[in-house]
Amino acid sequence: MNNLPLFFAMKDRPVVIAGGGLAAARKADLMVRAGCAVTIVAPSLNEDLAMLASEDRLIHKTSPLTADDLTDCVIAVGASEDGAINEHLHQLAKTVGIPVNIVDRPDLCDFIMPAVVDRSPLLIAVSSGGAAPLLTRILKARFETLIPSAYGRLARFAGDYRARVRDTLPRAAVRLRFWERLFDGPIAEQLFSGQEDQARELTEKLLQDVVTETGKATGGEVYLVGAGPGDPDLLTFRALRLMQKADVVLYDRLIGDGILNLVRRDAERIYVGKLPQEHAVPQEDISQLLVRLALEGKRVLRLKGGDPFMFGRGGEEIQALAEKGIPFQVIPGVTAANGCAAYAGIPLTHRDHAQSCVFVTGHGKDGKPDLNWEQLTQPRQTVVIYMGLSQLPGIVDGLLAHGAGADTPAAVVENGTREGQRVITGPLQDLPRLADGAASPALVIIGDVVTLRNELSWFEGEADSETNDPTDAKPR
Ligand code: SAH
Repeated sequence: MNNLPLFFAMKDRPVVIAGGGLAAARKADLMVRAGCAVTIVAPSLNEDLAMLASEDRLIHKTSPLTADDLTDCVIAVGASEDGAINEHLHQLAKTVGIPVNIVDRPDLCDFIMPAVVDRSPLLIAVSSGGAAPLLTRILKARFETLIPSAYGRLARFAGDYRARVRDTLPRAAVRLRFWERLFDGPIAEQLFSGQEDQARELTEKLLQDVVTETGKATGGEVYLVGAGPGDPDLLTFRALRLMQKADVVLYDRLIGDGILNLVRRDAERIYVGKLPQEHAVPQEDISQLLVRLALEGKRVLRLKGGDPFMFGRGGEEIQALAEKGIPFQVIPGVTAANGCAAYAGIPLTHRDHAQSCVFVTGHGKDGKPDLNWEQLTQPRQTVVIYMGLSQLPGIVDGLLAHGAGADTPAAVVENGTREGQRVITGPLQDLPRLADGAASPALVIIGDVVTLRNELSWFEGEADSETNDPTDAKPR
């Protein structure tokens, strides 16, 4: 982030604007609406500003700008059509020591005035940090159509109840459920259609219901969610919905920041990751932790890389939950094989090259590969190896010894679908050498389909050992 978004309380606080044209009018309009005490310094005012002045909603000064105009002001805005006046204002503001914004001069701005969607008391401010003002206006227009004006009414209504709800429902997790039901149910609908009395009646009833329900034991639940191979765009809607609902999240090494940032902001985050060679939190402990948190009444999100049931030990985790009778949901995710295949341009099956595809792990129960070599060396088949990187030389030796062709096309996809995705391709016998030093996570794909990477014209870039921006590798 290049800027820190803040919403300042500006009611009755003096601000100064230089300029009397369109740009000044835009800024003045926002500032007047936020309750600022606005002084405009300009020889003349356009129609909108003159109207505001005639209604005493701002003060107009015609004398040239001096340091006195900035006395007591908390911020200054240079919106004059005369660049020299704006620069003069900038200098004065620096001397007096107040933040200043000069229209169309990002280099002279201490703060940005964002595009604003006003659903007071709800405000959405959009800024591109000066990089693309038009884009912020397009986004603002989208929000304007997306968010009904009644949301302001809903926010005000909630504000009226806030103190009471806090007193009546002292537990934060319970309050959260109350608000969720208020915002996403019949109460909001009544308000949107202007039925405030009915909404108040329903709110009283909801408050009562929640008090009664919390008297009984409230059971938690667990969401075992597949988060996909890394690109947040590959999350499912359901995953995102549950990520927004959870009270606590358990995640591991495969979950990148891009995805973690989409989890509810105030959810507790617990890292249970392990590197390939270590077991930071043993599997039994993770299962027990899930059980304990759910029994405390929490909504527990277990985020898994890829799909929870594909080499994800998801089965073991839900076994522990089922034994204790804890409700759970399993949400499938895009597994590494699908993600890597699509983003690297390697179809896993193809009528001319592969009629079957097998998924194996290079990491057997004791850490060494424990593979059915006969099965892996069948013709017209694609072999996908998860967790195969560290054992790659042994795996390749095994395949060659069981009849795999030394020239069988093979690939290692490192950081598939993520920024910095790298695809290394070459004949099977050379793969350990080519992939030496490749980073984890990495997926091994073996079979004739790998050659299609060279042919598929709908992918950008060269086909051999390169670094891809995953966004470039998507179909055009
Ligand atoms: N449940 C996961 C797999 C977990 S096992 C899934 O469905 O994808 C961990 C292995 O998955 C890693 O060792 C690696 O082989 C593979 N993997 C996971 N994410 C990957 C990615 N973004 N790129 C390449 N391989 C990945």
